[in-house]
Amino acid sequence: MRKKVMAANWKMYKTPDETRDYFRDFLPLVAGHDRDEIVVCPPYTDVATAIESARGSSVAIGVQNVHWKADGAYTGEISAPMLLCLGVTHVIIGHSERRQYFGETDDTVNLRLKTALESGLTPICCVGEVLQEREAGLTDDVLRRQCVRAFHAISAKKAAKLIVAYEPVWAIGTGKTATPELAAEAHAVIRSEAVEIFGEDFAGQLRILYGGSVKPDNAKALMSQEEIDGALVGGASLDPKSFAAIVKY
Ligand code: PEP
Repeated sequence: MRKKVMAANWKMYKTPDETRDYFRDFLPLVAGHDRDEIVVCPPYTDVATAIESARGSSVAIGVQNVHWKADGAYTGEISAPMLLCLGVTHVIIGHSERRQYFGETDDTVNLRLKTALESGLTPICCVGEVLQEREAGLTDDVLRRQCVRAFHAISAKKAAKLIVAYEPVWAIGTGKTATPELAAEAHAVIRSEAVEIFGEDFAGQLRILYGGSVKPDNAKALMSQEEIDGALVGGASLDPKSFAAIVKY
C-alpha cells in the first residue's frame, strides 16, 4: 500500500506574514491526520517562516526548484545545501511553468533530480503533456520521453525517495481536470516506464501524484483511483480550508 502524498504548490504567492496566518489556520484542520503525507511548498522567501510555523506538526516543507550545483557564481539561484540547512525536505522539479517560462528542459530536470536525490531531498518530478500533444494522440510518447530523460543515469537505489507528479499542462490553473480514469491511464503509462527504467519492485512502490485543478469537490474521485498516489495542488492550496478539505478528501 503506497501512502498518499498531498502536496501544495503555492507558486509565487504569499508573504511571510500571510504564511504565518496560513499555518495558524491550517494546522488545527489537519491535526492528527496521518493517513497521508502533507507537504507545503511556498516561495523561498517564506520557507523560514513556514518551517518555524509547522514545527511540531507532521507537515513537511518543500520548495519549487533547486539548482544542481552546491554553490558558485549562479546569480539568483538556490542550492540543495542552502535548503537542507533550513530544514527543507522536498523539492518540486520540472514544473510545467518552469518548462514554459524559464527554459527548463528534460536535461536540466535530470541535473536537478540527480542533485536532489544525492543531497537527500525528496524530489517531486513533474511530467505532463500539453493540449496539442494530447489532441495529436502523443500523450504516452511524451510521458515516456520525459521519464526516460529525467531519470537518465539514475539508479533505482539512488532514486529511492523519488515522487512523480503527472500534471497535464492543459489542466493546470485552468479549472479543467483530467477525469479520474484518464489520469489513472496516464499514471499507468508512467509506472510502466518506471518498470523499464528502475525495475518492477521500485515501480510498485513509486508514488505518482496527480496535479491539475484538484479542488475539494473532485479530490475524492481522483484519490479513489488505485493508480493515483496523492495530489499536487496549486490554486486550491492557497486557502487553508480548501487545502485541508483536499487533504482529508
Ligand atoms: C500546480 O501548480 O502544480 C497545479 C496543479 O496548479 P492548479 O492546481 O492550480 O491547477
